[in-house]
Amino acid sequence: MIQIQNVSKWYGPVQVLTDCSVTVNKGDVVVVCGPSGSGKSTLIKTVNGLEPIQKGTITVNGISVNDPKTDLPRLRSKVGMVFQHFELFPHLSVTENLTIAQMKVLGRSADEARTRGLKMLDRVGLMAHKDKFPGQLSGGQQQRVAIARALSMDPIVMLFDEPTSALDPEMVGEVLDVMVKLASEGMTMMVVTHEMGFARKVANRVIFIDVGGRILEDCSKEDFFGNPDARQARTKDFLGKIL
Ligand code: ATP
Ligand code: MG
Repeated sequence: MIQIQNVSKWYGPVQVLTDCSVTVNKGDVVVVCGPSGSGKSTLIKTVNGLEPIQKGTITVNGISVNDPKTDLPRLRSKVGMVFQHFELFPHLSVTENLTIAQMKVLGRSADEARTRGLKMLDRVGLMAHKDKFPGQLSGGQQQRVAIARALSMDPIVMLFDEPTSALDPEMVGEVLDVMVKLASEGMTMMVVTHEMGFARKVANRVIFIDVGGRILEDCSKEDFFGNPDARQARTKDFLGKIL
């Protein structure tokens, strides 16, 4: 589904991704972790072409992200992305947030978009809030709306970049619950997070990236958490700090 092959990226003279290769198969839940500044956000943003790369290739469902001939807006519409800060449109109601891209990008009618959007809103448990504005919702609720908005586009894969790290602790659970449900329903997901409870529960692979954007580990969660002696020293050090 996602093939990242030998990808390197520089900001000016600074290398931020170093020869990264990752394969995400249909139904995989791949958790990406690593220290601050290691390139997790950069890596995940390369998947839908939000960050250009200088070396390597990335394909999503066989379509090259970096080929100038690729219709990026169309490709992006199939790759759902949820960020740390919810990035809902503050001046639009929840329902409008859910429908606008469906109409503009996918060409759906207002009715069709509304039906689909509200179905996804129901899935994240927020139907009662459909007419509110983002500012009237808690952080956890806003993030769930952001997930519903991404799902409304019928994505083939969902990318999450630290979706719970800007939330108050009591709201983390409600967002993780939605993500666990999505994973158990078979959604293909690539998730940057330090929530190792989530990783233990639903990840089938865990990737550890070190500073310089170097992938040091790419293994099953059983190996990642259960077989410390097989892990790199840097990974053990990182896990020691966050577990
Ligand atoms: P965090 O855990 O803090 O979110 P991260 O692993 O997501 O960190 P990135 O945001 O991907 O890290 O950044 C990787 C490196 O690239 C960092 O050294 C960062 O300073 C650098 N970087 C990110 N964006 C830019 C930019 N627009 N221009 C120059 N350098 C950048
Ligand atoms: Mg980041």
